Amino acid sequence: MTQPTLRPARPVDPSDRRIRRSWWLFSGAFLLVALVAIARAFSGEAGPIDWFLLVAVVVAGIAALLHVSAVQGLDARSRSETESFARILSGLSRSVSPDAIVDAIVEELGEATRADHIVVVRRRRGTSVVEARLVSSHPGVPHHTTLLPAGDLDDPIDGGRPPRPAEAVERIARRVRDVYGLTHALAEPLTADDEVVGAIVLSRRIGGRWTDATRRLLSAAAAEASAALARAYSHRAAEAQASTDALTGLPNRRYFEEFVSLLAKRRRAGDAVGILMVDIDKFKVLNDTHGHATGDEVLRAVASAIVSAVREDDVPARFGGEEFVVLLRNPDPGVAIEVGERIRAAVRGLDLGRLGVATVSVSVGVAVADGPDEPIEALIETADQALYRAKRGGRDRVVAA
Ligand code: GH3
Ligand code: MG
Ligand code: MG
Repeated sequence: MTQPTLRPARPVDPSDRRIRRSWWLFSGAFLLVALVAIARAFSGEAGPIDWFLLVAVVVAGIAALLHVSAVQGLDARSRSETESFARILSGLSRSVSPDAIVDAIVEELGEATRADHIVVVRRRRGTSVVEARLVSSHPGVPHHTTLLPAGDLDDPIDGGRPPRPAEAVERIARRVRDVYGLTHALAEPLTADDEVVGAIVLSRRIGGRWTDATRRLLSAAAAEASAALARAYSHRAAEAQASTDALTGLPNRRYFEEFVSLLAKRRRAGDAVGILMVDIDKFKVLNDTHGHATGDEVLRAVASAIVSAVREDDVPARFGGEEFVVLLRNPDPGVAIEVGERIRAAVRGLDLGRLGVATVSVSVGVAVADGPDEPIEALIETADQALYRAKRGGRDRVVAA
């Protein structure tokens, strides 16, 4: 992901130049008036008006100095707010996982807002669980993660209406205050697709109003974090989509090959690997007889039969067309054949009456390697040759290499 390049400050700011020019004019005029006032006050014939003029000049001078210092303070605050926000942005843009995004928010907001605690509340994607992560900005205080009821985000208000973002956030803030015993909280929602998916809660021990700069910073950080979270989620969804076969929901060949190459790097002596190549028999005839749509339904049914026949640790995938592959972790050769037989029987046992299909069968080729010396790609090739023999031998059977 690209990092935003912060534009360097322009060498001459025209507004600075105007301010400086007006200050020179003011100082010049002030000096003249001051000299006249001093000359008159000490001329020997000074009246009350001259003394009054001198006092007014001194007061105007002090007011001008106070004004300069106030403007400088304001400028420094706005600069530091901009810098904090820029740091938050660059932290978020570097973060690709939702957890890293939460970490980036917490770290920068803690420093920028001087809150004692920051709680990031976030719905775990695809679950009804809401996770709250409390980070203290005081060194040595451990981070704390706890689960909160998702009802704070979702539960209807006044018998039916879904909560508005502000209401959901208010509930979360109240819950967080209760759970952690926090005081003086300030909360902003995290949203995705116009839905509240969490909140950022700042808390301080000592009361008083939160400054406008802190409010602005929190609100901008929450908006940016929401966008970053949405990006991370859609990145994950796209990744999942790219590795899944749309028809059967099984991992696709690309995913399978990636998995195989990862596994190859971690294989140790004694790690057995088995490969089953599974091919539907006479599938072309089935397509020609019943139509492609029915063929698709049969493919789905065969895929789920394969999934139900293998263990959690095994990795089935659609290898292409009407061909499937299953990677078995640490099987004995006997076990690999057994799994092949289980798959064959499960497919044979499919009830496809609703599709008007009587039965469907598969042929299975099996290959097992007991050590890391034989590459998995070669094992796939060997299993494919065994599959070919199963086809030649009459189909609907399991053949080991
Ligand atoms: P064999 O027993 O020798 O494996 O014969 P077969 O007919 O199964 O093998 P062949 O390779 O001749 O034909 C495979 C068929 O699978 C051809 C192709 O149209 C069909 N097929 C491949 N992918 C899909 C798919 O996604 N959906 C459907 N409906 N059919 C598919
Ligand atoms: Mg076939
Ligand atoms: Mg085939």
